[in-house]
Formats: sequence, C-alpha cells, structure tokens
Amino acid sequence: MANGTIKQLTTPEGLSALSDSLSDVSSYYNEPENLAAVKQTVQSFIRDNPDLANVGLKIRPGIHGAYHPKDDYAITGVVNPAVVGHELGHAKNLRKARLYNKILQAARGVANVNNVVALPAMLSLRAFVDDENTRNEVLNILSGASAAVAAPGLVEELSASIEAMKHTPDKWQATKTLGPAFLQHAAHALMPTALYQLGKHI
Ligand SMILES: [Zn+2]
Repeated sequence: MANGTIKQLTTPEGLSALSDSLSDVSSYYNEPENLAAVKQTVQSFIRDNPDLANVGLKIRPGIHGAYHPKDDYAITGVVNPAVVGHELGHAKNLRKARLYNKILQAARGVANVNNVVALPAMLSLRAFVDDENTRNEVLNILSGASAAVAAPGLVEELSASIEAMKHTPDKWQATKTLGPAFLQHAAHALMPTALYQLGKHI
C-alpha cells in the first residue's frame, strides 16, 4: 500500500496510484471522476500552508478518511476531494497547537466513556432516585456536562469541514460529502446528552 506524503496527490503518478489502489472500492464517497479536484484541493491547501506538503499519506481502502496527529499522517480510502480536504483541515489545526490537540484528546476520552455509561447511568437514576425533582436535576447536570465534553470534538469536526469547503473547487460536492458525515458525528457525540434528557420523560 502506498506510503508517502500528501504532496504526491499533486503529481500525475501519485494520483494514478491513488485511483489504482481504490478502483475496487464501492462507496458513496468514492468518486474517481473527481480525481482532478483532489489534486486542486491539495494544491490549494499547500499554496496557503506550505508546511502541509509533508503530512504523511496512507491509502487504505475501506476507510473514508482520518488524520493521526501523533504520527502526522492522513489516511484516505476513497477518491474524494472533500474527504482529503477535511483531513488536511484537521492536520492544519492540530499540527499548529499541541495543547489544543491534548485538550481534544482528553475530551474525546471522557466523551467515549460517557457514550458507554450514559444508558446504564440514566436507567439506574430512574431506578434508585425516587424523588422526581432530584432526579431531573441530576439528569440535567449530566446532560449539560455531556454536551460540554462533546463540544470540542464537534467544533474541530466543523472547523475541518469549513477548511475543506474553502479549498475544494466544487462546493456542492463537498456539502454532499461532509454534511451527512457531520450530522452522523454530531448525533453520536450528543447521544448521552439526549439520553439524559430522555431520562426525565420515560
Ligand atoms: Zn474529522
């Protein structure tokens, strides 16, 4: 599997390697006809932020996209300018601020645990706290805290997508790709918030 830097997506050889590796991928997000737009997107990012040229690149069919801040590489598994743009948006944000990156990781850790405990926590409050006012107060606190830990991750997702929108030539293509992905992410991230609110009404 190709291992190199993001800059290879600005060369004909790099682009052919990308489309060859991903020719069998059947995904709504795989758009081989947009190969030229992938090149334009990466070029536009590098024009504004020359340092991004050496962000690592791994091609992995089956994954849409990801950025690993620790080892500074992006993954793409589809030919899609908006996906590449979104991951470069993360790279741009996360490379520049180590502290921001740490806060994000910490919030994500708490949010992941919260995703697992939200349902049992809500159900045991229902079972063990008889007083409705007390119970609703606790549920409100948990719900608010859950939204707060989810927020940094959501803001970063939105910011990466805005970066992608800035640099991709076809804004409609980017909206189609990034809109549903963001909503899915938000629904998952805000699930505990919603569960604790639900706990007041069942
Ligand atoms: Zn993202």
